[in-house]
Amino acid sequence: MALEQLKTDILILGSGGAGLFAALHAHAADPALDITIASKGLIGKCGCTRMVQGGYNVAVHKGDSVERHFMDTVEGGKWLVDQDLVWTLVTKAIERITELENEIGCFFDRNPDGTLHGKAFAGQTFDRTVHKGDLTGIEIINRLMEQVWARPGIRRLEEHRAVALIPSKDRAAISGVLLIDIRTGEFRFVEAQAVLLATGGGPTMYRYHTPSGDKSMDGLAMALHLGLPLRDMEMVQFHPTGLFAGPDTRMTGTVLEEGLRGAGGHLLNGAMHRFMADYDPQLERATRDVVSRAMYAEMRAGRTTEHGGLYIKMAHLGREMVKKEFKGMVERCADRGFDLAGGLVEVVPTAHYFMGGVVCKTDTSTELPGLFVAGEDASGMHGANRLGGNGVANSTVFGGIAGDTMPRWVRANAGERPPDETLIEAEMARALEPFARKPGDLNLLRERLLDTMWEDVGVIRDRSGLDRALSALDDIEAGLMATGLPDGGKHFNLTWHDWLNLRSLVETSRAIALAARARENSRGAHFREDFPDPGDLATSTFTITRQQAGRIEISSEPVRFTIVRPGETLINDKAAAE
Ligand SMILES: Cc1cc2nc3c(=O)[nH]c(=O)nc-3n(C[C@H](O)[C@H](O)[C@H](O)COP(=O)(O)OP(=O)(O)OC[C@H]3O[C@@H](n4cnc5c(N)ncnc54)[C@H](O)[C@@H]3O)c2cc1C
Repeated sequence: MALEQLKTDILILGSGGAGLFAALHAHAADPALDITIASKGLIGKCGCTRMVQGGYNVAVHKGDSVERHFMDTVEGGKWLVDQDLVWTLVTKAIERITELENEIGCFFDRNPDGTLHGKAFAGQTFDRTVHKGDLTGIEIINRLMEQVWARPGIRRLEEHRAVALIPSKDRAAISGVLLIDIRTGEFRFVEAQAVLLATGGGPTMYRYHTPSGDKSMDGLAMALHLGLPLRDMEMVQFHPTGLFAGPDTRMTGTVLEEGLRGAGGHLLNGAMHRFMADYDPQLERATRDVVSRAMYAEMRAGRTTEHGGLYIKMAHLGREMVKKEFKGMVERCADRGFDLAGGLVEVVPTAHYFMGGVVCKTDTSTELPGLFVAGEDASGMHGANRLGGNGVANSTVFGGIAGDTMPRWVRANAGERPPDETLIEAEMARALEPFARKPGDLNLLRERLLDTMWEDVGVIRDRSGLDRALSALDDIEAGLMATGLPDGGKHFNLTWHDWLNLRSLVETSRAIALAARARENSRGAHFREDFPDPGDLATSTFTITRQQAGRIEISSEPVRFTIVRPGETLINDKAAAE
């Protein structure tokens, strides 16, 4: 098997907010370093950061405070967060938003007095979500992309898919990453002193989902395979308002942003009843988990539209206001024949974000020396529920931190770390497995996976459904292993990459289902109908998922309340008001 080799100082996997920020910071810290970004998609055109609609949470407004942002995040995460990571997130977000405007060149919407406009997002006690209309991600990623292009020293390997993290021969540190150049189909081993995992999670194994098509949980599948500890794997966030445009289009599942509910949108069932009043006093402004669960319950009870969805209604807020404030969304809905500003739009809860991920410290380091993690691949910042607006703050804050940390690590740990070559060979063979099998129907397997995860590991779970899902996942995996590819060569072979996507999704789906089965209580996004109680907050635990010798083990660890304990608060309302 041919294997091209490349050496670099810092290898960054992924070109979302985390990956691009890391590259810029690492380059600023030491322009002499050789920095390489490898990305499954085209830089600037892929990943979810580009898709950010609503905005970016940051405590910069009069009356708000980092303490308030911190408490909203801790309480939203149902006390399962790593509080040191949250504190880093909320304090560094202020630095990062200034950097985005003053150094990267982003423009965010402003109030008439020149201050940044903050919009209302659910589950927050302050309107702190900074934005550029409802297309914030395009502004952020385009400007970041331009900054990266302006630095020829940053090497770009676009349409390169990472397939395995390779440790050194002695397993003491990371040595590099095995990739497939999607265009040629050739393998490439990139040896690096430091590697950043920033492939952005992406729970696309659910029937309805929002993340970009290039995301298939590859980073977490690779981390699982290497035996790294993963935290909170049961925590999959469902966004309440995914567009429901019928079964025959990928538009179904795409998100209609949180700001609609924040601005006063109403959710109605098929009988035009504003059902949130039956579930939560905060109505549509309750957190995503609460609203998604209420919607799922309405759907399960059959109180739906004739197509099986529910409605969001904005018309009572005034057509002109909706058109002005939510221009992008009004246009997207119109593309599918819905009138968001004046009529009703059909919606369904949709898998949106993955709170679980690789265990890391505040400097983004992981258990394996030389391997760092940032963005949606990392864990601990959101606990059981991510607040809308904390996702892009998370990826840019910790991407930047990774970019500051890695050059220091490289300087302090310079040296040769030859790779475990047997593992490279084994991983190449593993990726080529489908070429040795007879072609089959991958779509059938994907459909089964989407239904299994939606029905049995989704918004509402119980033991029997999780057992059923685990057994279905075994079948789906066996089916995948028996399914080969039509003869067609390896260059730009998208069916091969579909096969690899499915493999990552099945492996991580099993981890999700096992962690969900192990957590016998209900917190945030994880709701067990057979264990509806949240459990005692003061003795909260989080799950750790680790794969060893091919077997996944789930353990639990106590949450460390390093800053506040349940029942305490950091908010000093008097200080905030001054
Ligand atoms: C529709 C939508 C709207 C959202 N709106 C908001 C919002 O308003 N506010 C908010 O805070 N958050 C929002 N989010 C969440 C937010 O987008 C993410 O939390 C954040 O952008 C993730 O950044 P990231 O850098 O970790 O990953 P991404 O931006 O997703 O980037 C991942 C990168 O990894 C690459 N990659 C994937 N697999 C591989 C592989 N095997 N090898 C190499 N590269 C790989 C991808 O091609 C991509 O370049 C939204 C998400 C979606 C889907």
